[in-house]
Amino acid sequence: MGEQVPVSGQPQPERPAPAPPDGRAGRILWAVAAGLAATALLLAQRASGGRGSFQNLPTPIPVSGDGGAQIDVPAPAEVHGYAAIQRQAAPNTTRTGTDRYQAVAYTVEYGDSLFSIAQTFRIQPESLLWANEEVLGGRPDLLEPGMHLNVPPTDGVYYRWREGDTLEAVAEKFSAEAAAIIDWPGNPIADLTNPSIPPGVWVMIPGGIGEFQQWVFPDIASAGQGVSNELLGAGACSGDFPAGNGSGIFVWPSPIHSVVGNDYWDGHRALDIASGEGIGVYAADNGVVLFSGWATGGYGYMVYIDHGNGYSTLYAHLSQVSAQCGQLAAKGQVIGTGGSTGNSSGPHLHFEVRFQGGFLNPWQVLPPP
Ligand SMILES: [Zn+2]
Repeated sequence: MGEQVPVSGQPQPERPAPAPPDGRAGRILWAVAAGLAATALLLAQRASGGRGSFQNLPTPIPVSGDGGAQIDVPAPAEVHGYAAIQRQAAPNTTRTGTDRYQAVAYTVEYGDSLFSIAQTFRIQPESLLWANEEVLGGRPDLLEPGMHLNVPPTDGVYYRWREGDTLEAVAEKFSAEAAAIIDWPGNPIADLTNPSIPPGVWVMIPGGIGEFQQWVFPDIASAGQGVSNELLGAGACSGDFPAGNGSGIFVWPSPIHSVVGNDYWDGHRALDIASGEGIGVYAADNGVVLFSGWATGGYGYMVYIDHGNGYSTLYAHLSQVSAQCGQLAAKGQVIGTGGSTGNSSGPHLHFEVRFQGGFLNPWQVLPPP
């Protein structure tokens, strides 16, 4: 940046300097004159629309010539002040779900989850899941880096019109009103008096409700009932097992007590907890290990523990398992290490809690982070 130009008072139009009385005073006067000249240069640069650091300054005030009226001109010190606090461009402004009518495309990056992408675009994860039925088939865990997603403009179902679809039938299918489809400004409906939509066109169904088709690892019946490893994967255990001895009081299954991907929601009945290669995964309560190893359905290496009191817990995407089939795992004991095996867009621990066969939100049983 340019150096400060010290000027006292406001700049005056050029006038002849009086003869210097002696050398020293002359130097001072010449310094003052130089300062005034620099100021005039600055002002001239502004007046001529000069570029560089000064382009964001207020509209220049023309300096009058001979005999002009006195004009208030900001002191140059202020000029430098303005230049020093130039506003930066903000290209990453967050969109909201309400300021657009059209879907936008998004390419999945490493570490993304449907939940985090939905949060970024301020829509519900369900809406993002339903808008991408064709690539995800209703399963958020199928998300992969590089995948192209439609991000709908608002909550509801973003749907590609099919041959033979009618407004009424589609509205009913997604529990919405036909009027909501017609009224959405982004939908390509030319004739509102005789609305029709050609096949292949994408349509927003605001407020619509889609389906969940999440593949769910089945609840494993406890003690004494082996499970088929053809159905569930190589990690399935068989044999007679002791009953779990859960306390009903849980600990975090990871040393890192935070969620990195999907939180618990209707399309993802689990917490994706921060973890990674070599980071221990702990039994959340005492229990018997009913599954330990490779699982089908995208869970990768997985451990399943029956706590014997109605609760069971599931730990997926592990890099490796260390629990043994039929083992009684103590609360807090290491049962494997974190990873990103199976359908996973980055290292995390997929942690499910079930109670008598139904899903529970893990936040309801885990201690505060
Ligand atoms: Zn998950």
